[in-house]
Order: sequence, then C-alpha cells, then structure tokens
Amino acid sequence: MNTLFASIVTPNGKVYEGDVHMVSVRATSGDMGILPNHMPLVAPLKISAVKLKHLESDEYVAVSGGFVEIRRDSVTILTESAERKVDIDVARAERAKAEAEAKLASLTEDSPEYKAVLNDLKRAENRLHVASL
Ligand code: ATP
Repeated sequence: MNTLFASIVTPNGKVYEGDVHMVSVRATSGDMGILPNHMPLVAPLKISAVKLKHLESDEYVAVSGGFVEIRRDSVTILTESAERKVDIDVARAERAKAEAEAKLASLTEDSPEYKAVLNDLKRAENRLHVASL
C-alpha cells in the first residue's frame, strides 16, 4: 500500500479528503512527514501549513492548530478552521493581519487579550503564507 487516506475536518465540515502519498504537518513537537504505515499516534498541531503530496503535484491547506491522528493507512486532522490554498481570501487575511497588528501595538504582554490577538495575527500570517506557496 503506497497511499494514505487524508482528511481535514472542521466544525463547518470537511475541507479535504483524498488519497495522498505523504502528508507533512507542523506538530508542536516539530515537523513530521507522514508516509503510509507510520506508527499510530495523536499530536497537537501549530497554526501552520499542511502539505498533501500526490504523485505529480502538491496541495496546501492552512490550519489553525488542532490535532493530527495518524493510523497505518490514514491521517485525520481535526481543527477549528482550515482553508485550501485556492480558497484563501488574501485581502481578508491582509485586513485581519493589519487589525491584529494595530491591536497588539496597544496591548501589553500581560493583558488578558494579548494571547488571543497574537493568535489572530498568526492565523492571518499563516493564510498569507499558504496563499503564496
Ligand atoms: P477574520 O478576522 O478575517 O474573520 P479570523 O481569523 O477571525 O479571520 P477564523 O475565526 O479563524 O477567522 O475563521 C472563521 C471562518 O472564516 C472559518 O471558516 C475560516 O475558514 C474562514 N476564513 C477566515 N479567514 C479566511 C480567509 N482569509 N480566506 C478564506 N476563509 C477564511
């Protein structure tokens, strides 16, 4: 067996489903390249790009963290939000980035809002990064 069944699921539905040759993810513990027959495990993900490798092309999806569940023949990503590269609205992400930057400039690191706004910024930057791949 030289393919894996990959799916990316959010509360709003399935963003990706299909057979792939490799899935690359950024776990909080480091980058992982997942091939068929990988050891089963569950790992938390960073706000990051997921790469889905086909024989002749790659696809990219922006994910806002979540978890990856690896089985011998499948990879499932559960995340709060995910967008395929082609579905990313760049103008919206630019706007979200500018808003988060402006808010951050008015907050101190010990402010209760700080972490949430930093995450808004990371999501916007990640979407822009994936759109540029
Ligand atoms: P914004 O401030 O622009 O609303 P956000 O980071 O607050 O962005 P999320 O709460 O992460 O947005 O996501 C809400 C929904 O909007 C999700 O379904 C997500 O996939 C979608 N979404 C957010 N930003 C974009 C974008 N730039 N392009 C396409 N879809 C997006």
